[in-house]
Amino acid sequence: MAKKQFKAESKRLMDLMINSIYTHKEIFLREIISNASDAVDKLAYKALTDDQVKVKRKDFGIVIVPDKTARTLTVSDNGIGMTREELESNLGTIAKSGSFHFKQELGDEKAANKVDVIGQFGVGFYSAFMVADRVSVISKAYGSDEAWMWQSEGADGYTVTPCEKAGAGTDIIMHIKDNADEENYDQYLESYKLQELIHKYSDYIRYPIRMEVEDYRMKEKPADAGEDYRPEWESVLEWKTVNSMVPIWQRQKSKVKKEDYDAFYKEKFGDWQEPLCVLHTSGEGAVEYKALLYIPSQAPYDFYTRDYEKGLQLYSSGVLIMDKCADLLPDHFRFVRGVVDSPDFSLNISREMLQHTRQLKVIAANLEKKVKAELLKLQKDDREKYEKFWEAFGMQIKVGVVSDYGQHKDLLRELLLFRSSAEGKNVTLAEYKDRMSQEQPYYYYASGESADKIDRLPQVERIRDKGYEILYLTQDVDEFVMQALGELDGKKFKSVSDEDALPQSEEEKKAAEEKAEQGKEMVDFVKQTLGEKVKQVRISKILKSGAVCMTAEGSMTLEMEKYLRKIEGKSDIRAERVLELNPDADAVQALRRAVEAGDEELAGKYAKLLYGQALLLAELPMEEPADFAALVCELMK
Ligand code: ADP
Repeated sequence: MAKKQFKAESKRLMDLMINSIYTHKEIFLREIISNASDAVDKLAYKALTDDQVKVKRKDFGIVIVPDKTARTLTVSDNGIGMTREELESNLGTIAKSGSFHFKQELGDEKAANKVDVIGQFGVGFYSAFMVADRVSVISKAYGSDEAWMWQSEGADGYTVTPCEKAGAGTDIIMHIKDNADEENYDQYLESYKLQELIHKYSDYIRYPIRMEVEDYRMKEKPADAGEDYRPEWESVLEWKTVNSMVPIWQRQKSKVKKEDYDAFYKEKFGDWQEPLCVLHTSGEGAVEYKALLYIPSQAPYDFYTRDYEKGLQLYSSGVLIMDKCADLLPDHFRFVRGVVDSPDFSLNISREMLQHTRQLKVIAANLEKKVKAELLKLQKDDREKYEKFWEAFGMQIKVGVVSDYGQHKDLLRELLLFRSSAEGKNVTLAEYKDRMSQEQPYYYYASGESADKIDRLPQVERIRDKGYEILYLTQDVDEFVMQALGELDGKKFKSVSDEDALPQSEEEKKAAEEKAEQGKEMVDFVKQTLGEKVKQVRISKILKSGAVCMTAEGSMTLEMEKYLRKIEGKSDIRAERVLELNPDADAVQALRRAVEAGDEELAGKYAKLLYGQALLLAELPMEEPADFAALVCELMK
């Protein structure tokens, strides 16, 4: 019979498994058992929601049978099973995101050198090929009367043929490799070794994992035994459940080690890095639940895309009823992963109804508070870790502040970090507030591409020279965050580019008016020269030594303009640009002299030069770069 070919990615992953020199090959058993448990979960769920499905929870289980003579290790489950099509599509291709991620992580050429990541990922079914040279999968889907056998000896393909099987479920039969130089495969046929592996990796699996286990018992005393009879022992084989079946979230906190929490997380959520925080919590009273939540230490590769699906696994008394229950997590905490188990959900609830249940809302509200408290604790006790969190998910928190018309800003404000001028590192708003002097009128911020660049903006100078701390806004969403926050304990957030960022005395106001008056002819000339390019030209009150800068009037700032152009790809969105000229700067005085002398040609060139500089400083696109370059050259002659 002709072999069918694996899809390209699957073939590569399979190659990798077969040739793996990975030292923890033993994890294959965890993967196979975990698949078996998932399959039972699926049938258990079906039984809850469909009266036609008549299976009893107590009958569910997983059976492990090592056979030394045949060199096979068989893992059987009485779960949902697979149809012929499912065998082909599930085992012939890699569909799952975990494997996909794995593949991405490996990159192309270096795949072979990076095999040590295998143990850190949930690589799934194919890991069987690390220890087996031939794998047969016999499966019968629940409700079907046909059984099928999938078989493969490795990367060159697989076959699917009809076969016989009594009940629904799946047998995975692994033909274990012969021992090699430094590799002991025989151990995977030893009962004690298999028990050890199940304890280590699969203890919490909620269905019994049964195995024939060697036990010793005392031989019966023979009737004719004399005075000096000593009891004799014999070994017997007995079927036993080898896992404790208590899910980790049901255990007492004090009895669970950090390694256990971490291992569970990695296995369950297919992350290869330890989580940043573990939150094991429960609720009593109105709604009873247990929750085990994790904050990952880095954002999943698809976190900031539409593909990422938020949600917690929802169990009802140990039965999985929903894989990603979105209603348990607010969007601003969508990075949280974990499990919620509550006996309070009626089991045959439909998914839509679930969305409206009161219990769900109560749990979600509790968890939101807990997650926030945990993050604040981290911020206080382990700043380095918090910074790591911030790097991964800070963006999400900021988006949370802005979204839903700022509804969540009070909840999230304390979590925010911004880079600040004070110490050149990230600060919280509370830290800024605490060290700010009484007379400082506002909290200041300035926007740009990087802290370095912002630091050198001409409009930053006068605020910095006052000794006031400035928050550097370097992300697109930051100005929207400022707008949403508005104020903190009575003081406003203010852009350094605002004309009234510093309060002026009567004399200062008067002096400014005089300067504006003196510069009026020049300002009018520049506006006329630039036309619609700018909304306004004015004598600046915000510059100290710099000659020009660009600001904006109205509610749209230059940063917002850039952001909107980037995400919406629209070029017609424009802030109301204001070109600000410093009347005390040499270059502006040169312009003024040219205007006053009536040398319109020279004055026009100066005006364009200054405008070009303002665009450059604001990191706005140059409209006519060639003209600008030519002008600079001409003036250098
Ligand atoms: P994952 O389990 O992470 O999705 P695997 O490569 O381990 O990835 O398995 C691929 C798919 O094959 C599973 O998603 C599941 O649909 C199916 N599968 C594997 N083992 C079993 C089993 N014992 N019973 C039913 N389906 C299974």
